[in-house]
Amino acid sequence: ATKRTPLMAGNWKMNLDHAEAIAAVQKLAWTLKDAGHDYSAVEVAILAPFTDLRSVQTLVDADKLEVRYGAQDVSQHESGAYTGEVSGAMIARLGCSYVAVGHSERREYHAESDAVVNAKVKAAFSKDVTPILCVGEGLDVRKAGDQVSYTLAQLDGALEGVPAEQAKSIVVAYEPVWAIGTGEVATPEDAQEVCGAVRARLAELYDAELAAGVRVLYGGSVKSGNVAEIMAQPDVDGALVGGASLDPVEFAKIVRYQS
Ligand code: PEP
Repeated sequence: ATKRTPLMAGNWKMNLDHAEAIAAVQKLAWTLKDAGHDYSAVEVAILAPFTDLRSVQTLVDADKLEVRYGAQDVSQHESGAYTGEVSGAMIARLGCSYVAVGHSERREYHAESDAVVNAKVKAAFSKDVTPILCVGEGLDVRKAGDQVSYTLAQLDGALEGVPAEQAKSIVVAYEPVWAIGTGEVATPEDAQEVCGAVRARLAELYDAELAAGVRVLYGGSVKSGNVAEIMAQPDVDGALVGGASLDPVEFAKIVRYQS
């Protein structure tokens, strides 16, 4: 069987200024060091506001930290007259390993369509930044029982025209919108159902070997108290953690699947 290295990614959203970011990453790294964390067994990343990235880069470089980091969004455009946007080249230059693309808050508050998400996936790959592609249904869709078809349609849209050489390194985060920031966590079986369906679709879109290597994360109210049962699911390869990632000690527990 293909071995997938789990990824635990903290999405800070619009929290922590650059000084707070330095303190948070230091505390996370120290806490994980004390726990004897093996980063090759479980990868750790934080997704920080753009204004934090240079500070995080400096800290990670200076202290040779194994914590990875990334941005929460990227422009679909290469460069030019796009006031307020930040390009893939810019975040790549800051050492970002990852960028979240298509987070439900971007889709909802910034009207990001599947076509925009697709363009952002391509923009990230073109600069060798790995997209963490966020997909997942809202409450109405879940109540109607359409979570799998809805989520797979988002996946199809995001990957349109993305070649296998790039798609093989994508990270997909299944984040049911009704579970984000609500304290309402999907059951491990709910998470497995859709994460497994995502992997099966990747096998259809590409091939079984590619699908077996792609990491599929679950996101939505993950905490130290529920992470272990979610990580026990066969098609869940990590978590995208919002609120709980702001506390480095709690996030370190999540990274170690400890309650
Ligand atoms: C998220 O925003 O990606 C997320 C999963 O948030 P929370 O953990 O706070 O539900």
